Amino acid sequence: MINCSQSRASLLEVDGLTVEYRLKGLSLRAIDDVSFAVRPGEAIALVGESGSGKTTTAMAIAGLLSSNARVSSGEVRYRGNRLPIDNDNAMRLHRWSETSVVFQGAMNALNPVHRVIKQIAEPCMLKLSMSRDQATVRAKELLELVGIPADRGTAYPHQLSGGMRQRVMIAMALACRPSIIIGDEPTTALDVITQAQILKLLGELRSRLNLALILITHDLSVVAETCDRVMIMYAGRIVEDGTVAEIFTKPKHPYTRLLIDSIPNPANGKKMIRPIAGDPPNLINRPPGCAFHPRCPSAMGECAIEIPRLDKLGSRRVACHLHRSSLEDKVAAHA
Ligand code: SF4
Repeated sequence: MINCSQSRASLLEVDGLTVEYRLKGLSLRAIDDVSFAVRPGEAIALVGESGSGKTTTAMAIAGLLSSNARVSSGEVRYRGNRLPIDNDNAMRLHRWSETSVVFQGAMNALNPVHRVIKQIAEPCMLKLSMSRDQATVRAKELLELVGIPADRGTAYPHQLSGGMRQRVMIAMALACRPSIIIGDEPTTALDVITQAQILKLLGELRSRLNLALILITHDLSVVAETCDRVMIMYAGRIVEDGTVAEIFTKPKHPYTRLLIDSIPNPANGKKMIRPIAGDPPNLINRPPGCAFHPRCPSAMGECAIEIPRLDKLGSRRVACHLHRSSLEDKVAAHA
């Protein structure tokens, strides 16, 4: 649950959110009791492997869950008001004017037969009731804001580089002056140099426009420069939540440690990605107890029986039996 002091300062609150998908008669719990809050201008990252629930969390916040998804418990509040996240029509205005999404793979998200300036102007006309001329002026301003000369707005998507197309997506996301941008793997399809440029742009826009940023990524290395706080997700649950400094310098959860260890670091001779042994769990047949226990090098007997709670540990939250107060001696042994 979110406490009152969080609630007063928060722009967005995700409170006990659980989402299930129906698949061929089976129910799959994609996220389970997810809670966190985002303050105005704050940048957080949701990080995890495929199937961790990070994208379902983001899509739920944006009201973009697929038709076979059901919010089985919990809620999302924006400025203290409950959002109708399972009602696509009711969420449409909110989605552009308060929360916008930048998806990966701009080539798929942009309409190939329309010039990009028209695609940026469209939400301004539809959501802000601007005339075509006013919307075109706004679209040119937005192109300049994301680092594209306004005269390039006459290009079609295929005439722009991958990085420029992603900048166009960001311009579209900003069209209706939202307070929150959700970036769903916004740099995954880009080369490392363009990826760094897009992350830098998001960081600059965030401080210039006081935007809150929710970055969804499987790649922990991209969040260090961009985000204030990181939430590590595994099998639909948050397993660790802390500041970037805490997570990178003193990770508490064994999964977080392995994620950090997997990042190449030429400074210490680690040039290759070191994958985590084993596979993410099948959510239809989730392991009992801690879902990470079949892969965890620190697993103990109770790990296969009892699901660890996400407990507060100083300024962070951790879900691991090693960090229960009664097991402090085991923490020291595994530190
Ligand atoms: Fe490992 Fe047990 Fe902690 Fe899960 S609860 S991460 S299995 S030590």
